Amino acid sequence: RKEFNVKVKRDDSKVKEVATLKAVDGINIYVNQGETLGVVGESGCGKTTTAKLLLGLHTPTGGKILLGDNDISHLTKKEMKHFRRRAQMIFQDPYESLNPRFKIKDTIMEPLEIHGIGINKEERYQMAKKILEESGLKPADQFMERFPHEMSGGQRQRVAIARALVLSPDFIIADEPVSMLDVSIRAGILKLLRNMITTRNLAGIIISHDISLIRYISDRTAVMYLGKVVEQGNTEEIIEKRYHPYTEALLEAAPNPDPELKFSLKKITGEAPNPVDLPTGCRFHPRCPKCMDICKRMEPREVDMGNGHRVLCHLYSEDGE
Ligand code: SF4
Repeated sequence: RKEFNVKVKRDDSKVKEVATLKAVDGINIYVNQGETLGVVGESGCGKTTTAKLLLGLHTPTGGKILLGDNDISHLTKKEMKHFRRRAQMIFQDPYESLNPRFKIKDTIMEPLEIHGIGINKEERYQMAKKILEESGLKPADQFMERFPHEMSGGQRQRVAIARALVLSPDFIIADEPVSMLDVSIRAGILKLLRNMITTRNLAGIIISHDISLIRYISDRTAVMYLGKVVEQGNTEEIIEKRYHPYTEALLEAAPNPDPELKFSLKKITGEAPNPVDLPTGCRFHPRCPKCMDICKRMEPREVDMGNGHRVLCHLYSEDGE
């Protein structure tokens, strides 16, 4: 769980009120090694806050974050440095995430130096070169000498992936890893990420607003809406047997790469509610075509539909009418 105190400005420009925003509220997700979990939802649903909590960039106001058996939610500075080596993030914007004054070799060797890996500069150079080759940038010797401005967006994102993986982490999070890239090169970057996660036996979390992308890359999927995970399970099962009306709406709004699934391009009706003034009951009820009376009064409980497929909706609980 993560709460933020939010100062709300009114017309006279004075701060009049302090509200509490529960950016992430009582979510329960997991990811196994060698597996990719896709986290999908509209902007503001809590995906990025979840990522920052998992990386120790935010401290949760409640709950636990376990890496193996270790709770990483309240680490000391020293423990955090060690944890940072095990958990890495790939950011959305390959233009912002690389230092424009650093050659690519320095960008990739820097984390090795910080964590004291490699006996000397030459060994670190060879490690950096190897991971750059694995990331599809060949001949690596030439790419090592370039600056970011001498590379395309796709090449920069490959460098960002190489930099994240050079420390041999156990766990990576990629936040909208291809949304800033040209459509024609997105599949290549996603394929690289998926291969790296599988062959290196990493636990991977991919965050996106695009359920088609999540379907392409993830083994399991968690659908988030306003700080809650409303549905999670095996990705193919979620696509074929989606239970939650919000998952249904996301799929209907997605461009359809598979004609057999008969998705149509529709908009999700209504605006997402203000996160500091959440609706009572189910948070999705003002936009839900299947809303019942109980949905306006009572928060739904998570229901296990079998095979690890869980859904947060009154339609499937004994509370439903
Ligand atoms: Fe719709 Fe009710 Fe289910 Fe919420 S609990 S998604 S309002 S049917």
